[in-house]
Amino acid sequence: MLIHLQDIPLIPLFEEVDEEMVITWLTHCDQRVLEPGERLIERDQPLMHAFLLLRGELMVHLDPSPSYSLGTVQPGECVGEVSTLCGLPASAYVSAAVDSVICPVPRNELITWARQSHQFSLNLINLLGRRLSTSNRKLSDEQQTGEELRTRSITDPLTGVLNRGWITSDGADFQRLFEGNGSAASVLMVDIDHFKALNDSLGHAAGDVVLRAVASRMASLVRSTDVLLRWGGEEFLIFCPDTRDVEAVKRLAQRLCDAIGVEPFRGEGLESPVPVTVSIGVAHRLGDESWEALVDRADQALYAAKAAGRHRVMGYDQIPPQA
Ligand code: GH3
Ligand code: MG
Ligand code: MG
Repeated sequence: MLIHLQDIPLIPLFEEVDEEMVITWLTHCDQRVLEPGERLIERDQPLMHAFLLLRGELMVHLDPSPSYSLGTVQPGECVGEVSTLCGLPASAYVSAAVDSVICPVPRNELITWARQSHQFSLNLINLLGRRLSTSNRKLSDEQQTGEELRTRSITDPLTGVLNRGWITSDGADFQRLFEGNGSAASVLMVDIDHFKALNDSLGHAAGDVVLRAVASRMASLVRSTDVLLRWGGEEFLIFCPDTRDVEAVKRLAQRLCDAIGVEPFRGEGLESPVPVTVSIGVAHRLGDESWEALVDRADQALYAAKAAGRHRVMGYDQIPPQA
């Protein structure tokens, strides 16, 4: 079937290519009519033709059923030229979105056109370049969105410190830090004393201000190798990997306890200075003890610190025998 030039839309591939030449080329080409939903290209299949869309609209999709479209192809645009030229399997499915007319161009024709017209070759390079640039941009956008989501999922929105999600998140350093250092790891479990009473007397908003201030005071005191996490509510966990010096960890815990309790918190959202104290439980990893068991022992030490009167540090090894 002969294609008339006036019948076809403006085709970027033919821009500034000698018109006579284009007419000769298209004389050798066929036309094919597609019904809505009809498949033109199968993903992962080798392609022997590129397709110029003359009328209608095509959908590009990654699943066999076009439930999620990667994009549409409009009249004048081309599909399958990269796979056809490079001999690569198709990277996506293409189906007709509406009644459409396409012009299949065999691989050898495409190569002949490129040989006959420098302008056509340039247009082809232009098209391929745009494809590459679009997919690179898409990839980097997706990567950025992924990073942002990951950061959000492991950050506590109130205090800005890490949350429990860090322990289990993909690509987190936790496994490397915990398993990579043998038994030399410690956990500090920090809990604000009588925080419910503080909330009740000053209000939840003031409680939030205090939580933020406590987190920030602790963040400024922990060592660069320590990891501060909001474990939940008014409880923080400090993970100290690679702690061969057990005494240094106890000193750190005492420094934190003193630094929180030494001076009342002031600031925006607090009408008057608010005295705050914390209790801290400390546990050092025994052999190849599991993370859960280590945290549980730090918890028991914290419980003992509370029972002993609060505003203090208690090591697991200092828990008094039960009466
Ligand atoms: P203890 O000294 O035994 O730890 O007593 P506590 O009152 O600190 O402990 P309790 O577990 O009874 O109460 C914790 C309170 O922390 C209750 C809860 O409303 C409050 N809380 C938890 N998360 C938040 C938060 O994000 N913001 C505020 N303002 N309060 C919170
Ligand atoms: Mg508490
Ligand atoms: Mg608590």
